[in-house]
Amino acid sequence: MKKVLKTILMGAVAFSLAMGVGCVTGENSSLEKESSKAEDSSSQNKRRQLRDKSDYGKVIALTFDDGPNTDTTPLVLDKLEEHGIVASFFVIGNNITDESAEVMKRAYNMGCDIENHSQSHPDMTKMTAEEIKAEIDFTSDKVEEAVGERPQFFRPPYIAVNQTMFDVIDMPFICGYGAEDYNNAIGVEERVEKVLAQARDGGIILLHDMNGNVQTVEALDKIIPALKEQGYEFVTITELFHAKGVAIDPDSEIIYSYAEQTEMYG
Ligand SMILES: [Zn+2]
Repeated sequence: MKKVLKTILMGAVAFSLAMGVGCVTGENSSLEKESSKAEDSSSQNKRRQLRDKSDYGKVIALTFDDGPNTDTTPLVLDKLEEHGIVASFFVIGNNITDESAEVMKRAYNMGCDIENHSQSHPDMTKMTAEEIKAEIDFTSDKVEEAVGERPQFFRPPYIAVNQTMFDVIDMPFICGYGAEDYNNAIGVEERVEKVLAQARDGGIILLHDMNGNVQTVEALDKIIPALKEQGYEFVTITELFHAKGVAIDPDSEIIYSYAEQTEMYG
């Protein structure tokens, strides 16, 4: 009984989220088959040292979807560097080329997380278990080739989910509080306001580093100082879960918008 109810609920919420919160489709035109091998053996695991849990105060995670690219992703990284913070990038496998892999490596070496946002940004609720698995594996393999570490978290394209996805994908699902920044009509100020209004301890901010999204790059100059002013420390998604003492459970059937969430949608 519970399962039936859950399935109905998921369908309804997935639909409404897909309409409202969902991510836009990335630029998937590049069909490069070339895999960028991690030839540079000097690129080591630079993932930040996790401190003792009691050492963290208010934490928040900036996350960016639909990269990597050589246009907007570097601008986002410049801003992170400028403000001395880290973020997490949920990448689309088909966007990983030799060139964009270098950008991804830069992010990783800065201490950022590289996470999975599928291979081709499909609505996975319409796919078979095998197709879903292929999408996930493709991107995790590509990320591992480039940075030497596999993603631990997954963000469903359009935040559309179903039970098959939960069964097949062995990573926690991440949503977050968005600013509809995939929509060009939403200006810089509105993006800033939306992000600040939804900020909370343990929260996940959902933005996009897709090609040409300069309004989000600009918004970061206001979002980051404002949240620092409120006492937030910016951490990766991995560090967010650690700081809040939440296990990274591959079987979890929650779509996290903040680390301590216990309901499917928060
Ligand atoms: Zn997306």
